[in-house]
This record gives sequence, structure tokens and C-alpha cells, in this order.
Amino acid sequence: MKIIHSIEELQTIRKNLKGSLGFVPTMGALHDGHLSLIKQSIKDNEITIVSIFVNPTQFLPGEDLDKYPKKIQADSKICELANVDYLFTPEINTMYSKDEILIKAPVLKGFTLEGQNRPGHFDGVLQIVLKLLNLVNPTNVYFGKKDAQQLALIKQMAKNLFLSPNIVDCEIIREKDGLAMSSRNIYLSQEERKQALNISKSLKDAAKLIGSKEYNCARIIKTMRTTMKGMDIEYISIVNRDFQQIQTIELGNTIILLAVKVGTPRLIDNIWI
Ligand code: AMP
Repeated sequence: MKIIHSIEELQTIRKNLKGSLGFVPTMGALHDGHLSLIKQSIKDNEITIVSIFVNPTQFLPGEDLDKYPKKIQADSKICELANVDYLFTPEINTMYSKDEILIKAPVLKGFTLEGQNRPGHFDGVLQIVLKLLNLVNPTNVYFGKKDAQQLALIKQMAKNLFLSPNIVDCEIIREKDGLAMSSRNIYLSQEERKQALNISKSLKDAAKLIGSKEYNCARIIKTMRTTMKGMDIEYISIVNRDFQQIQTIELGNTIILLAVKVGTPRLIDNIWI
């Protein structure tokens, strides 16, 4: 595996690559969720590039940019063992200059849920993803359904801006007990970790209700709130795949999403129905 830091090096390598190219953009502190995207890319493509870049423009003032976990050595090892071909780890100055052209998330899909609670977050996500896609120009790019709204917005950007890479959705990877894997889970104390299990449990409860033909969204949300009683819930939302709120479950076209603060960490999770 070759580690690349500069744009020039990446561009030279890209120019000489032949065959299908898979790309997995990440912010590092890699876990089995990231690894599943990497494995899928390696399976689908002749060459795989992984990037690790903690993107400052997607963090709001007061969020955990400075404290975001950095584990570059362990991450390199994980990528190497997985047979990644190139690991791109640029510095901030490499990716950004002053007074840049900015990308704005669309109003409807971009300023609800995560976009409402973290205004500007998706502008930063789209900006860095566009930069990386232009640089790497992959055949296939891999994103997790864990960040469902991010995935939907990236797909919309690809459509609106006529980007060529094929976007591949990857399933959410969970710990054995159901907690969705996240780089932020390491910040949970033992007690918080236990409490956080109610997040995935509430989604399981919702799926069970839907399985027994309860399609009323308000009643489903009420049950989920009961499962997470006492927790600091930012939102629970039931939307269609266009991220419009719905009152009645549409089988095959629904996502149930939530954001919950457990101590300091803010955790998100979802289930696709
Ligand atoms: P991040 O490093 O958090 O920016 O995540 C990089 C990519 O990994 C994104 O496409 C995420 O959606 C994906 N990802 C993060 N956690 C998981 C997970 N538990 N299961 C599947 N994909 C994930």
C-alpha cells in the first residue's frame, strides 16, 4: 500500500491507473463499518483508494473537530491488511485555500434533521466530497447508510452536478449488541454505552411494530420514545426516501432516523423499511 499526501502525487498516480477504481472517503479512526466499505470496494474494483481527512468545514463552531479521534498508524495498518492500494491523507492546506467557491446543500433535503440541528454541516460535507471526487475520479465511490441523509445529499449532488462516479450504498455495521459502529463510540463511558443500546433497540421495536402491521408513524415514534425514556433525544423522524416527513409507513420507501446525545457524544442511527 502506498500512502499519498500531496495532490500532485495523487493526480500522477490517477493518470496512470487503468481499470476500475473504487474510492472510500473517511475521516479515519477506522472501525468495521469503514472496513465493510473498503472490502466492498476491493471486491468490486481492480484498484482501491481510501482517504482519511477530518474535514473542518463540516464541523460547526463548538463541535468536536479538535477532539475528533486521530489514529493514523492503526488506520494505515487496517488499510494495508485489507489490501488497499493507496491511502490518501492530505493536510488541511492541501485541500483548502482562502475565499473558496462554496457548495450549498439544497433547502428541502439539506436543512431538515441533521441539517436543521447542524446548520452548514452538509455544505461542508458536499464541498469536501466534490473536491475528493474530482481529484480521485473513481469508477465507484462507497458510502454507508449509517449517514442516510448525507448519502441522499451526495446522490443529489451527483445528479445535479452531473458527476460520473457510481455511488454505492453500504449497509450499517453494528456491534454484536446492536450499537451502530461509530468513531465517536469510544467517548462513551461504560454507563453511557449501556444506555446507548436503547437507540438501536428503539429502531428494532419500530421494525417489530411495522412487522405486525402498525403503519401509524406517530404511534411508532411514541413507542420509540418510551424505549429511550430519559435520554436526550434530538429528533426521531420518519421520512420517505426523499426525506419528506410521512404520517404512514410506506413499505420499501421509508427511513426512520434519530439523533440522541448520550453524555457528550451525539449518536445517529437509522433503519430502512
Ligand atoms: P466517517 O469516517 O464517519 O466520515 O465515515 C466514512 C464512511 O463510513 C461514511 O460513508 C459512513 O457512512 C460510513 N460508516 C460509518 N459508520 C458506519 C457503519 N457503522 N456502518 C456502515 N458504514 C459506516
